[in-house]
Amino acid sequence: MKYFSTRNRGNIVSAAQAIKIGLSPDGGLFVPESLPAVSLELLEQFGAMDYRGRAAAVMRLFLDEFDDMELSGFAKRAYAENFDCAEIAPLRRADENTAFLELWHGPTCAFKDMALQMLPRLLTASLKKCGEMRKVCILVATSGDTGKAALEGFRDVPGTSILVFYPRDGVSDVQKLQMVTQQGENVGVCSVNGNFDDAQGGVKTIFGDRDFAAELSGRGYFLSSANSINWGRLLPQIVYYISAYCDSVNSGIIKPREKLNFCVPTGNFGNILACWYAKRMGLPVGRIICASNKNNVLTDFIRTGVYDRNRGFYTSISPSMDILVSSNLERLIYSMCEDDRKVAGYMSELHECGRYEVGPDIKSAIAADFEAGFCDDDETKAAIARVWKKFDYLMDTHTAVAYKVMSDYREKSGDAAPTVIVSTASPFKFCEDVLDALGVNPGGNDPIAALSDFTGMEIPAPLGGLMQRPVRFTQTVEKSGMRDVADAFLRQA
Ligand SMILES: *Cc1c(COP(=O)(O)O)cnc(C)c1O
Repeated sequence: MKYFSTRNRGNIVSAAQAIKIGLSPDGGLFVPESLPAVSLELLEQFGAMDYRGRAAAVMRLFLDEFDDMELSGFAKRAYAENFDCAEIAPLRRADENTAFLELWHGPTCAFKDMALQMLPRLLTASLKKCGEMRKVCILVATSGDTGKAALEGFRDVPGTSILVFYPRDGVSDVQKLQMVTQQGENVGVCSVNGNFDDAQGGVKTIFGDRDFAAELSGRGYFLSSANSINWGRLLPQIVYYISAYCDSVNSGIIKPREKLNFCVPTGNFGNILACWYAKRMGLPVGRIICASNKNNVLTDFIRTGVYDRNRGFYTSISPSMDILVSSNLERLIYSMCEDDRKVAGYMSELHECGRYEVGPDIKSAIAADFEAGFCDDDETKAAIARVWKKFDYLMDTHTAVAYKVMSDYREKSGDAAPTVIVSTASPFKFCEDVLDALGVNPGGNDPIAALSDFTGMEIPAPLGGLMQRPVRFTQTVEKSGMRDVADAFLRQA
């Protein structure tokens, strides 16, 4: 199967090239030329497989340069003892028609692991298929979860090294500790004086620096990215929607063929886009509900067709959704109009004025599949307390946004269809705000232990003893010094 750019259909690449390059040189994102179908027979077959089998089989539909053996080998290693439960992505039922899809049983306790345990395998294999002899250096700017998940995914992977920049004051204490205590010989972590935009801007500047690229190439390196614009990150996410559907049938939440709604806490639009692709492939999905926090640019877009980033930016207790430009939306818009020029036009309007408005055809196509809603921090906390009391189920702050938005949608629409709430992080990862929501004053200086004491829940192994681990990385730089840090990092690598 071929892939091409959302901004120029003439830019055609193979799957391996798309994964190696990440972003098309014209600024567009790579999309598959067509979507494979999942028939009901195929779904039945997937239903009899474990998660690893489902992952290999679904990815195979998109990656014809990779054979079955190769992909099942990747899946067996990506989804193994590094996950703390055998089902990998278990479905937990709350009541008759509501279940949580837990995507945080991997090594960093957030859903990013589902893709970032797979991406390094896809990427290193893609480099071989492309005949690339240089080593790849992954540069990441993170607002929290991606950095740690990418570090774990690439740690000690031969032929790769990874350097993560995070904003000094923009991540939670747990997120920061997870990164600065990272193990591995090929990893680096550095904080940047400034906010996430400074870190991200600095990384983009390094990517755009041709002299630096040429110099690195002479030393046998090239730079690549692990963020969610890479097709190799999106594809592994399609798997868990299909898997959740199979598990819903197997556990009797729905009958085969019956429609299932999904509600997804959304930031960069990667997770929810994978759900929409699964629906397009033929998975019986009903409404796809896009949940946002107070940074509700997507709620407005889905309701009105106007994307407008000219608004205040809020720092919320669901920080992984604090985002004003959702990159993966570009793929959805492309699929809905199949017009690369139109997409390029919208994106240049966004770049120049921070705003664009899609035509009525795209607007109604979006309305046919999506619902949208948002809630603020107080409502998020109230949802955590309510669900804990009602179901004995503890949600993290991001999942709680989805729960609240789903409840509002049900009330407003009367739609009682079985619904899966996508749970994107362990509550222990955002323990301070979760404790606050439960009305607990932790005292002491170990909120992870305090949350475990209060709830009786076991601390996830990756977070156990986090507060006591030795700190390996302490460097802070100005944005202007990031290139030198990357240069020095690759000299010692
Ligand atoms: C990244 C992240 C999100 C947002 O996912 P997108 O794919 O960016 O929409 C939601 N919740 C958590 C915990 C995350 O880490």
